[in-house]
Order: sequence, then C-alpha cells, then structure tokens
Amino acid sequence: MIFEHLDTYGHEQVVFCHNKDVGLKAIIAIHNTVLGPALGGTRMWPYESEQDALNDVLRLSRGMTYKNAVAGLNIGGGKAVIIGDPAVDKSEALFRAFGQFVESLGGRYITAEDVGIDVNDMEYVYRETQFVTGVHQVHGGSGDPSPFTAYGTLQGLLAALNRKFGNEDVGNYSYAVQGLGHVGIEFVKLLKERGAKIFVTDINKDRVERAVSEYGAEAVGLDEIYDVDADVYSPCALGGTVNEKTLPRLKAKIICGAANNQLANNAIGDEVEKRGILYAPDYAVNAGGVMNVSLEIDGYNRERAMRMMRTIYHNLTRIFEIAEREGIPTYRAADRLAEERIEVIGKLKLPL
Ligand code: NAD
Repeated sequence: MIFEHLDTYGHEQVVFCHNKDVGLKAIIAIHNTVLGPALGGTRMWPYESEQDALNDVLRLSRGMTYKNAVAGLNIGGGKAVIIGDPAVDKSEALFRAFGQFVESLGGRYITAEDVGIDVNDMEYVYRETQFVTGVHQVHGGSGDPSPFTAYGTLQGLLAALNRKFGNEDVGNYSYAVQGLGHVGIEFVKLLKERGAKIFVTDINKDRVERAVSEYGAEAVGLDEIYDVDADVYSPCALGGTVNEKTLPRLKAKIICGAANNQLANNAIGDEVEKRGILYAPDYAVNAGGVMNVSLEIDGYNRERAMRMMRTIYHNLTRIFEIAEREGIPTYRAADRLAEERIEVIGKLKLPL
C-alpha cells in the first residue's frame, strides 16, 4: 500500500520518525535528489489520520522537486511533517528529537520552516543538526524570506507583462491583489513604487487600511476582488482561488501572484488557457523564498540573493516559450521545464 503510493509519486525514500518519550511522530519524505540534497520545510499540523499526514508529505515533497528544479537550484525536493498541534504540542525535546532524525540522514534532506513552525523551533532543530536553513540571522540565517518572495513575484510579473502586452511598464496596468500578509503587502509596495493602480482585499482590516493609507490602494470586498476591472489578478493569500466559480468572473488578462496551488485543479488550468488568460505558474513565480534559504547552504549573501531573484524573469520566459512551442498550457510547461532539467543535469553527473 505504501510502496504503491511511492510508485505513483516516484519517491526515493520516506522515513518515519518516532520518539515515544517526547511524543514525536514525524515523516520525512525525500522525493528526488538528482539535482542535489532534498530541501523543503517541516510542517506541523494536527492531521486527522496518519494517512493524511503521509499524503500531505508525499504531495508537498514532490512539489518541492519541481519548484527547486525550475528555480535553477542544485537542490532536490523533500519535505517533512510533524503530527501535532502547534498550539499545544511544541517542546524543546520534540524539535531536538526531530533534529536528530534529520542529522541521521547525513545531508540527504535539509529542512526549513513551514506552516506551524517558526524560527524559535528551528533553533532547537539546529542544536542537533547542521542540515537546517531558516535559522536566526545570528547563526548566518537569511531571515524573513517574504520581501524576496515579493521581489521574485515582481520579476515573474515583468515576464508575464512582456509576454502578454509586449512591454514591462508595471505602471500602465491595474492589479487586484488578494491577501496583504508578509508577501502581499511587500508586493503592493513594489507595484506602488512603479505607479500602478491597485485594488486590494484581506480579511484583516488593519492590513487593508495600511495598503490604502501607505500605498494609495483601493479597498474592495473579499468576494468583490474577482469582479474588479484589473489587468492582473494576483493571488497572495490562499490556494485554490482560481476555480469554476471565480474564473468566469475574472476580467484579468494575467494571473500572477505568490500564493501556492492557485489553480483548483488541472482542468481549470486548461480553461484559463482557453480563455486567453496568461497564467504565470505559481511555483515558478514564488520561488524567491526557497532561493533565499538555499543560499544558506553555502553561506548566505544578500547581494547574491537579489541577483538570484531576477532569474525568475528568465524562468518564466522559458516556461512561456515551452508552452507556445509545445502547444500546452503554462502550468504543464512549468512541469516540463522541471522534468527536462532533472533529466539533462542528472546525466551530467560524473560517475563516482
Ligand atoms: P501570510 O499568512 O502572512 O498572509 C496571508 C494573508 O492572506 C493574511 O493577511 C490573511 O489575512 C489573508 N487572507 C487569508 N484568507 C483570505 C481571503 N479569503 N481573502 C483575502 N485575504 C485572505 O502569508 P504569506 O507569507 O504572505 O504568504 C502568502 C501566500 O504566498 C501563501 O499562499 C504562501 O504559501 C505563499 N508563499 C509565501 C512565501 C513567503 O516567502 N512567505 C513563499 C512562497 C509562497
């Protein structure tokens, strides 16, 4: 049953980590290490069943292989989940025990923060293993990745504008930004600096207020964001917001934002294409965060990080070219770029 699952997704190794004394139940999934060690965050979540946890870690780790490959990193894909409630189940011992498991893999898996985990938890993991990124800046960590993700999203946007309109003048166009959290508000700031007209929405009223007062954005209702007359729809909150209900309402000609898993399913991705809307694939656009932490492996450098973010422009351009050449939707072209890179670079590896 489990091996059937692994066949479907193509995983190399899945490790079940158990320490009864500290209440640790975790799964580390290494999907693919052809390009390099598997990098991906650890998520802590009160999964309803162990099967749910396994499904999640298999899906997420596979996603990291594609994201890291398209980002041009010499890094493979992996992910870990800790089964537990972040609000009540965290302890030093739990994270240190988890760190020991990460260490035992000898660098095949490198961890980072994800949902439910913060930099303080990573400090404990760091006491047991060197194979961790996203630690505090005093330990050479890279800090909050969100401004980099926002800057990377801007690079993706420039490539999309060029493709769709033949120019990259951000200020010529209007934007509907959904979600004003760590990434969304930074993205709004970048758009404003370039003179754009911006519509915003968020469930958090203070964040909306800030976008209005500091960046001159126009606030719209949570549901209204799908109806505004904007050239670009930029999902920066949740996944699945491009779906059967919302797509017919969108007037945008481009979808480009930082949120993960924007398309509710592949059929919607095909429909986006049919409607002539240019979709900038989410995991190529929002790779800034992983690019930033990946630099911690060789010693973090901010200058290099900013240079790396700009490669997102070229990655998107290549995806658009593959889509046109092969007559496939852009979300499929992104996967193809990842698969081609893994195959070609994998063959370059010198035999030991
Ligand atoms: P965040 O939690 O800081 O912000 C999310 C914002 O969305 C919050 O302000 C929240 O109130 C708002 N929101 C939630 N539901 C909403 C709704 N229905 N309508 C409107 N607003 C809603 O998260 P973040 O770090 O800014 O990340 C945003 C998205 O980008 C997520 O999907 C995340 O997975 C993805 N992402 C983030 C990074 C990063 O570097 N932070 C990197 C890659 C991908």
